[in-house]
Amino acid sequence: MTTNTKRGNLLSRVAALLALVVGLSCSEALAEATAIYAGKLFDSESGEMLENRTIHIVDGRIASVQKGFAKRDREKLVDLRDYTVLPGLMDMHTHLVYEFGPRTYMETFTWNPADYTLRGVDAARRTLRAGFTTVRDLGDSGNVTVSLRKAIDAGTIEGPRVFTAGKSIATTGGHADPTNGYRQDLMGSPGPAEGVVNGAASAREAVRQRYKDGADLIKITATGGVLSVAKSGQNPQFMQDELEAIVATARDYGFTVAVHAHGKEGIDRAIRAGVDSIEHGTYMDGETIELMRRNNTWYVPTLLAGEWVSQKSALDGFFPEMVRSKAATIGPLIQQTFANAYKRGVNIAFGTDSGVSRHGDNAREFALMVQGGMTPADAIRSATWNAARLLRVQDELGSISEGKKADIIAVAGDPLEDISELQKVRFVMKDGKVFLNAE
Ligand SMILES: [Zn+2]
Repeated sequence: MTTNTKRGNLLSRVAALLALVVGLSCSEALAEATAIYAGKLFDSESGEMLENRTIHIVDGRIASVQKGFAKRDREKLVDLRDYTVLPGLMDMHTHLVYEFGPRTYMETFTWNPADYTLRGVDAARRTLRAGFTTVRDLGDSGNVTVSLRKAIDAGTIEGPRVFTAGKSIATTGGHADPTNGYRQDLMGSPGPAEGVVNGAASAREAVRQRYKDGADLIKITATGGVLSVAKSGQNPQFMQDELEAIVATARDYGFTVAVHAHGKEGIDRAIRAGVDSIEHGTYMDGETIELMRRNNTWYVPTLLAGEWVSQKSALDGFFPEMVRSKAATIGPLIQQTFANAYKRGVNIAFGTDSGVSRHGDNAREFALMVQGGMTPADAIRSATWNAARLLRVQDELGSISEGKKADIIAVAGDPLEDISELQKVRFVMKDGKVFLNAE
């Protein structure tokens, strides 16, 4: 951040100098300024709905937020007086290069990295246009999401700001071992480079490999999972020393650690090791909830994935039998777990596991959260202010306030009255640039 600011200052000085030479004012030479009139404005830090505000944006950042409607001379106007304006939404659990269907298990044998890449390009565009200006991607293959992130940052393709874990880290035969379910001669013995570890030393190696690959954080699979071709969806799959080695190594590189986990034992071990977030968390009980509260561990519920797998488990032939029974058992439980965790005051950040369900449907998660007893304001805060805190970027993102990046969306109605309004996003701005404007 400091380097960026310094670079920014240097750039403005250079621009000012150039402007003097060619006889323009500095602001004309550099600044691209926009004013947004917001009829309603959701303040994600307080959870309050404000009215009649003007957001001034200069060079992709929010310069100020003022009461009333007053545009300055050189500003372009975006008139959202009839709309509710919110911070760009942030999904803390996506898989941009996957989109699950009955043929998914064949793709490993028939798809090239380019196929995954092109699907990621499409998924990224849909996600952004659904109002999600930031995602945390929790598992890809071939480091495709690192390349997606670069192309999005360079402006080559449209997509949300990506924080990626690259390849998830598993243990042999665990959820995210890439050769689970293969026949013997194809199974091989994937290692830390492919995200499979056994023992503390190889766990450290896998974290360092993610650093080398260009990942932003670490994702591990601490228990069995629903969609892997393996018997258990909830057995613990890392030993305590492996978890501790992962967390300690991750800290050396400034990585946070996100943990896929359904079973209680695996969740408890991971929390004790000091991880940052538990994803799904299906079988957590009261004791686990207390442990999470004491350790300030984040919970990312992924209700949409729970709903989706339980619906699909009713269809014949959609899943292999081994997956089908896990989907039918585990899927429906997440909603109740979420309701308990929310009631007991666990820190919750929004995440959908999109890539299980369709990319672009992310905002349906809000309705499921509200059905689970969460207030609409808390649901929106989970996808803005809380998500920014989980990513440790709350100085840059997560609310519409002075100095932050201009990631701003709008919907027609009031989502505090009808949360499903968030499924019909009309306006999307990221870094001050408009990507959707259906006023
Ligand atoms: Zn996932």
